[in-house]
Amino acid sequence: MSFNRVIGHEKTCAYFKELIKNETLPHAIMLEGMVGVGKTTLGSALSASVLCESKTGDACGVCRSCLKMNHDNHPDFMVIEPEGTQIKNAQIEAFQDFINIKPYDGQYKVVLIKDADKMNASSQNRILKTLEEPPLHVVILMLTTNSEALLPTVLSRCQIIKLNGLHQDLVLNYIESNHETDEAEIIAKLADGSIGKAIDYITSESFKLIQSHTEEILQAIHTNEKAKLLEQLSYFNDEKENIQKILDYMILWYRDILLFKQAKAKHLLIHSRSLDVIKKLARNLSLNKIINNIEAIELTKKKLRQHGHFDLTMEVMLIQLLED
Ligand SMILES: [Zn+2]
Repeated sequence: MSFNRVIGHEKTCAYFKELIKNETLPHAIMLEGMVGVGKTTLGSALSASVLCESKTGDACGVCRSCLKMNHDNHPDFMVIEPEGTQIKNAQIEAFQDFINIKPYDGQYKVVLIKDADKMNASSQNRILKTLEEPPLHVVILMLTTNSEALLPTVLSRCQIIKLNGLHQDLVLNYIESNHETDEAEIIAKLADGSIGKAIDYITSESFKLIQSHTEEILQAIHTNEKAKLLEQLSYFNDEKENIQKILDYMILWYRDILLFKQAKAKHLLIHSRSLDVIKKLARNLSLNKIINNIEAIELTKKKLRQHGHFDLTMEVMLIQLLED
């Protein structure tokens, strides 16, 4: 896979191409970034480019090595990912056996470790030995959403490259070129710089449900119907695994209300199709109340991430949203 398959991250790709061409790539690289930002794609492009026979810095796609990579049967390439919730000691042992034998074909052996932060302490201590004295022919690529979960001794042996979230326009462009949806703009906004998140929204059945329930919630708040509002608790409970998405979507609505209240900026609204609802809510709610509600939802997201009691946290939020 060539670097031109990577969306965004141009500088990082150019940097890697240069290092590969000059044969100055470090032995251990850690790519850190949020879910769906392109770590796996970049890691795959980097692996193929290191192994490519063209020696141009980018995978040519046609040499023997690239063909083997495309067919997932390159003898000098290994992928490690968590078995269950962890990367276990035995997997690192297998990796060490793999790199201790010289490359079969070319000059390098590449190991791609996905979710590297899932290495348990014993795996990390084991891999440290390799990182301290890596064989010359080895390139180890580690992917992680959170490098802080790794031992400082491991981190200090890697070159850490942070991948930032993608620009919203790139995500929008990706959605419009690859998917049939009339919600592209909303999804690009919700995806928060992550193509993976965008795909998740597009393919998830629950997104339509999230939209309709959020509108019901706002309606119930608008008409001050507490009982109707609390009926939503069972929906939240059914959709526990999507709760962060639901709350993100609610925030997006309140941002629209805020935007309309402050600037009457119709063209900037995400839900411009629901202008009537936004107008009504903007009229009824004070600026402070809108801001407080956004904060209440943000706080709820945080509490749930910290494993607060689910039903109680959600109920408290709904009542806060309703109260003056
Ligand atoms: Zn090639």
